[in-house]
Amino acid sequence: MPFGLLQQTLDERAEQGLRRRRRTLASPQSPNIVVDGKPYLSFCSNDYLGLAAHPGLIAALQQGAAQWGVGAGAAHLVSGHFEPHHQLEQQLAAFVGKPEALLFSTGYMANIGIVQALAGKGDTVFADKLNHASLNDAMQLSRAHVQRYRHNDLAQLAQQLERSDSVRKLIITDAVFSMEGDLARLPELLALCERHDAWLLVDDAHGFGVLGEQGRGTLSHFDIRSPRIVYMATLGKAAGVFGAFVAAESTVIETLVNHARSYVYTTATPPALAVVLQDSLRLIAQGEALRVHLRALIKKLRTGLSDLPWPLMLSDTAIQPLLIGDSKQALALSEGLRERGLWVAAIRPPTVPQGTARLRITLSAAHTETDVEKLIGALHDLAR
Ligand SMILES: *Cc1c(COP(=O)(O)O)cnc(C)c1O
Repeated sequence: MPFGLLQQTLDERAEQGLRRRRRTLASPQSPNIVVDGKPYLSFCSNDYLGLAAHPGLIAALQQGAAQWGVGAGAAHLVSGHFEPHHQLEQQLAAFVGKPEALLFSTGYMANIGIVQALAGKGDTVFADKLNHASLNDAMQLSRAHVQRYRHNDLAQLAQQLERSDSVRKLIITDAVFSMEGDLARLPELLALCERHDAWLLVDDAHGFGVLGEQGRGTLSHFDIRSPRIVYMATLGKAAGVFGAFVAAESTVIETLVNHARSYVYTTATPPALAVVLQDSLRLIAQGEALRVHLRALIKKLRTGLSDLPWPLMLSDTAIQPLLIGDSKQALALSEGLRERGLWVAAIRPPTVPQGTARLRITLSAAHTETDVEKLIGALHDLAR
């Protein structure tokens, strides 16, 4: 029976402490959530600015639905491209300093579509080993030749570029690494691109809205710009809503419209979401106080956890992973926190490399100083 084999694989995963299960929330996303009838203080959403349940955005969604309905009804190239989509694309392009932008339904789909449209057989994709799963899947699906370099090891990447005889070369990287919280060395990556005539795809899922002037993202943080950079960011994290976009030169965008299969062959996101996202973008631009508060919380957490038996990974961002190592121990700690009313996800292989299971603590501007103090206290408690 094929079910027997499936069950066996699931059981093996469970034995290794790697089986995943979902928890159902009975409240909106926020630091204070209700799960299985119990309240928890949560440190595991990517809602970095606390916009996911913002009253102004809820009102904008209601108004957007009243004006535009609930569904797009077709793909963008058929009859699903609405005025709010178009306006949002123009605003996003201006915000991140690129000539044009294109909305995708999700970040996962954006990455799949971009890599497949920009690289194929005979081309080479160069990728950081700790890139997000969507970039990894994207390069495999593209059928291009793949070269992976050690995390942030640009000497190794330079060698790979040197030896490559592909005409089209594409470097792909997370800007803020999703499970580590550290940054890609974008200025040096861009310099390598210039030297080797390569493209640079930057996935800023965790930088957009959080880093850079007015939250314009990691390119602004490093103050770099180049037509070689294809910038991608998601709209379901700091922006608090759903979706993703790519910003690039017009020729690149035109290429995506024509060749990115995950753009062409899918229903457009509801135009009402594009209405909300325009307001979300305004909140991001005006959200300096939120970012200042978030940075203060990050500092407080790092100071407070510096004497634990487990090291915090080197990160200045809202992603603050505590490196545990063993999957079962990470799971046990996550469970211990839960018993104390705190929700922190244990991230295990295959999401992260073997032997590097971690508690992925994420902070949000919606947290208070007291929230962070509670987490610091509970972790010290568990360390004893
Ligand atoms: C979350 C994430 C994605 C996927 O974005 P979705 O909109 O959730 O599909 C892509 N890349 C990175 C680095 C991410 O963290």
